[in-house]
Amino acid sequence: MTGDQTEPTRTELEKLGEFGLIEKLTGDIKLVNKSSVLGVGDDAAVINPDQGLVLVTSDMLLEGIHFDLTYSPLKHLGYKAVAVNVSDIAAMNGVCQQITVNIGLSNRFSLEAVEELYQGIYQACATYNCDLVGGDTTSSKAGLSISVTALGTVHPDRLVQRSGAKEHDLICVSGDLGAAYMGLQVLEREKQVFMANQEMQPQLDAYQYIVGRQLKAEARTDIVQWLSESDIKPTAMIDVSDGLASDLLHISKQSNCGLRIYEEKIPVDPATKDAALEFKLSPTTVSLHGGEDYELLFTIDQKDHQLIESQPGISIIGHVTDKTQGCSLFTASEELLEIEAQGWKHF
Ligand code: ADP
Ligand code: MG
Repeated sequence: MTGDQTEPTRTELEKLGEFGLIEKLTGDIKLVNKSSVLGVGDDAAVINPDQGLVLVTSDMLLEGIHFDLTYSPLKHLGYKAVAVNVSDIAAMNGVCQQITVNIGLSNRFSLEAVEELYQGIYQACATYNCDLVGGDTTSSKAGLSISVTALGTVHPDRLVQRSGAKEHDLICVSGDLGAAYMGLQVLEREKQVFMANQEMQPQLDAYQYIVGRQLKAEARTDIVQWLSESDIKPTAMIDVSDGLASDLLHISKQSNCGLRIYEEKIPVDPATKDAALEFKLSPTTVSLHGGEDYELLFTIDQKDHQLIESQPGISIIGHVTDKTQGCSLFTASEELLEIEAQGWKHF
């Protein structure tokens, strides 16, 4: 039959009940890590860590605060909820092994919707090689909440904290910055256009890269692996979730040091620059203060300079200084500006 537009199936959650839902969502799990001894199905999961130290981190995402389902597909949201936690484990120079997922669901959500969310969660588990070993499921009065906890491991000699940067170290960052923020600006603009006129379809083709960076967050586990293979141990590391400026200040504060970065060295994709200019924003401001890039920001000893310099996809953006010199940005017009968490002021 042609033109047969069947409604997508909608199975109400109350028909399944909590246990039926959990069974639907977790019934097919195959554990991949040796350290995952027991997964979903008992009162607690059992883990047998194969390396010295266990890393634990959590992130909670609330509808209306951290995501907007008008433009975030549930599958992408599930993927992102896992990726941001894996990113925190990566920022400690560790490897994620297990996750647990807690969800709060209102009756607005059908089984099919929750399954879509879990498709993204499982896709991220496959990408990052970690096991979903447990969680909790509850109803909510309104909206969707999703909280992921990740467990990882790191050899004690490889652990990297925010606190180890020292004077003369080089400041490095992976990938490029500001794209996720500009992607969000485009999505918000298209949403406003759509709400004003439901006939208008979003014009996103020209913004594929930046919108992708917003909706499809990735953790830079490849950088952690490369550092290990290259026998480089950063002196300090953090993932860029709040924005370069704010995350640099965390390193400065916790390492008790100053630092200087150079505007011309900050990696910004041409698509991010174009979008920033279109929105009448400075690409540098966007790269400093736009969050959610999930790149790794780290400091290394000078001895590793050549190894880092020859590695594509890693930029050296500045160096660590004495604490008394503060945190500054050397601009393209050769001015020295003090870095602040939001905006910056002249010295
Ligand atoms: P309990 O009553 O002990 O909290 P539950 O009935 O909530 O147990 O959960 C049963 C099993 O299913 C447990 O292993 C739990 O970790 C797992 N689980 C519950 N909700 C989820 C979820 N949303 N995602 C993954 N696993 C879950
Ligand atoms: Mg429970």
